Amino acid sequence: MDDNIKRAAEDIVKAGRKKVAALTGAGMSVESNIPPFRGKGGLWEKFNPEEYAHIDTFRQDPAKSWSMLKDLLDVILKAQPNPGHYGLAELEKMGYLSCIITQNVDGLHQRAGNREVVEFHGNNQWVICLDCRKRYEIATVLPLKEIPPLCKECGGNKLKPDAIFFGEMIPPEAISRSEQEANNCAVMLSIGTSAVVYPAANMPEIAKWNGAKIIEINPERTPFTSKISDYIIEETAGKAMPRIVEEVKKLTKNI
Ligand code: NAD
Ligand code: ZN
Repeated sequence: MDDNIKRAAEDIVKAGRKKVAALTGAGMSVESNIPPFRGKGGLWEKFNPEEYAHIDTFRQDPAKSWSMLKDLLDVILKAQPNPGHYGLAELEKMGYLSCIITQNVDGLHQRAGNREVVEFHGNNQWVICLDCRKRYEIATVLPLKEIPPLCKECGGNKLKPDAIFFGEMIPPEAISRSEQEANNCAVMLSIGTSAVVYPAANMPEIAKWNGAKIIEINPERTPFTSKISDYIIEETAGKAMPRIVEEVKKLTKNI
């Protein structure tokens, strides 16, 4: 494990300025107390996301989706970035990291200080009325007075968070920017993602085809591990990232 931490730091430094990209998934925020879909415990034992966070459910019965969103927002709004998020923010400040492609909808990368973040699945900072298209900051509907909350503009009951629900399209600009980053990077870090949700899982594959090294950080092996990863650091994001940053600093001191 220690060897792979050193190896990752060397590969990042070798890659050079703005040549490292990262794909992050729900595992990135586990140490911020946001449970992943496929882990044990937490919110997703109560609500099957593919049902409660499906666009058809939302359109037919927004109150049902909001019963889940209420609990999710509670968890997300209390969450703080963890050392894994701060490690990525340092890599951006040091000039190595060009961009984070995140599947998360919790906004924690931006709160940790990263500026270049592609939100593949949108976020929960805004809600949009599906009837009149008015957008509100989520704070304006919180705390919830009713479920579902009603649109102040048109009185409709379909205020939907800007997060992408199952059955919805990924924003085309998120896909094109991610592909561009995947084509351009020399190293892609794949952190805390189970690598089964497409098209996000395509990005490390595209990077690999273009000759990039793929470094996984995940306590568990994934379909990437034997298929495309050069190596895996079998550790949590919160433990691995600060150590990688420490090693990068040691290496660059000697340059
Ligand atoms: P996932 O739930 O399918 O998988 C999580 C992965 O993280 C697993 O491979 C697990 O082994 C790993 N993991 C667990 N703890 C970790 C840690 N401390 N450090 C590093 N890795 C850890 O997540 P996914 O692949 O991102 O796909 C699920 C979808 O769920 C995504 O599209 C995402 O939008 C959504 N989601 C987002 C959040 C969030 O915003 N925080 C939370 C739950 C789900
Ligand atoms: Zn409206």
